[in-house]
Amino acid sequence: MLRRLPAKSEPMENVFARLEEYTKDDIKVKGGRLFTYLYDSGLEELARINDIYVKFLNRNAMDYHAFPSTLRLENEVVAMIGSLLNGDEKVTGNFTTGGTESILIAVKAARDQFLEKRGSGAPTPEIVIPVTAHPAFRKAAEYLRMKPVLIPVSSQSYLVEPETIRNAISDKTAIVISSAPNFPYGGIDPIEKIAEIASENKVWLHVDACVGGLILPFLDKIGVPVKKWDFSVPGVSSISVDLHKYGYTPKGSSVILYRNKDLRKYQLYVNADWPGYPMSNIGVQSTKSSAPLAASWAVLNYLGEEGYLNLARRTVSAKEQIVKGITSLGYRIVGEAETTIFAFTSDSIDIFEVGAKLKEKGWFLQVQPGSSEMGMPPSLHLNSSPVHDKVAPDFIEDLSEITESLKSRHPRTLDQIMKEVGAGNGKIDGPKLIEVLTSEDSPLNKNKNLLYELIRYLPSEIVEKAFLEMVNSDFSSSVE
Ligand SMILES: *Cc1c(COP(=O)(O)O)cnc(C)c1O
Repeated sequence: MLRRLPAKSEPMENVFARLEEYTKDDIKVKGGRLFTYLYDSGLEELARINDIYVKFLNRNAMDYHAFPSTLRLENEVVAMIGSLLNGDEKVTGNFTTGGTESILIAVKAARDQFLEKRGSGAPTPEIVIPVTAHPAFRKAAEYLRMKPVLIPVSSQSYLVEPETIRNAISDKTAIVISSAPNFPYGGIDPIEKIAEIASENKVWLHVDACVGGLILPFLDKIGVPVKKWDFSVPGVSSISVDLHKYGYTPKGSSVILYRNKDLRKYQLYVNADWPGYPMSNIGVQSTKSSAPLAASWAVLNYLGEEGYLNLARRTVSAKEQIVKGITSLGYRIVGEAETTIFAFTSDSIDIFEVGAKLKEKGWFLQVQPGSSEMGMPPSLHLNSSPVHDKVAPDFIEDLSEITESLKSRHPRTLDQIMKEVGAGNGKIDGPKLIEVLTSEDSPLNKNKNLLYELIRYLPSEIVEKAFLEMVNSDFSSSVE
């Protein structure tokens, strides 16, 4: 059925009630059972920030001349984060809607600097991306028509090896990417060595600290050693930092930072070549609410260094309890759990099944298929947050029970998966996967576990095609 705009107005209470009904199947964000999607401080006081959000909702941050408060707030937020990351007064940047936008506009800046330097006849700019870097960089390469140069990481630590970067750099390289830390395993790339190589080659180096930017500086201060990764490292050109992760601000808030204005200049967009007003945009958006910015400013000022340090202590305590618990149950950390996000796997029991059973008990972890091709095991990923400090013992207790019950449940072989999917002993090809992904009663749709187990063995192009079809059909005008 095609859903139309209702002919008549509806009483506000009904609208609220219907919305409430719509959320009934959403995972519950309260109670500390989410280890992904949300970074929960557990601080009741922070709920008051919602009032600030509403107050600034209709201020249009596009025009900071009309709303000078937005310019002041943005400069203050950027300076607070820049100085936390050991930047001097030359370090500058902007507030964006999220990590993806921060990354997109930083890559655009590097690309445009490269194209300007090289002038006419410039080659297609290349972007060197470790496989553990966030997909936002591949997306940026696709949007900006750059050539992604994918590089493998160490098969032990899952960190970038500096020599691999050196070999990947060419005279076409516009930008090199590294992570502090990477999302899948929480390891910090050897930024100091990478920066040396980038500097020698006069290449832009971006450090993606979307998840780490607001936890690493505090880890250091509470005695958890962190290797150097920020503006204290010469050769780092830009850094992306999400506030809506360990900054505990409402969703839609991130910061992109540059070593100086000469680099940031390439990020901006201005256009006076239309009959309207001269348009100048910081990032992708034009009209935008100042609510996320004002709320972020408020959270940063409310917590201050003291607040973030206290939250970091609880996050570290949560992580330590969980790591101790899972390793004593026989699980293995993938790579090095250097930070407060990490992944674990099992060599004997089916980790996908562990994830599913945890979900039945209300715990939500991110299932990572890994890659059989790249030699990366399937794993369960967690972001520990301050709220997990208290619930960690319950989590380990449930995990212990589940582990006991799954003792004889070994990982499925590809053949077994195929049989369950209904592909017999045959090969699962692109069209077949698309068919099962988009058909309602396919075993893959009912059993997401099975889907992830299968993905592990499939070439990424097939999975990408199938997911594209799935998303394309999920978003549709016809509703039940
Ligand atoms: C979350 C994340 C991103 C992307 O940020 P969004 O806010 O989801 O757009 C990029 N890199 C890393 C390491 C991240 O954790």
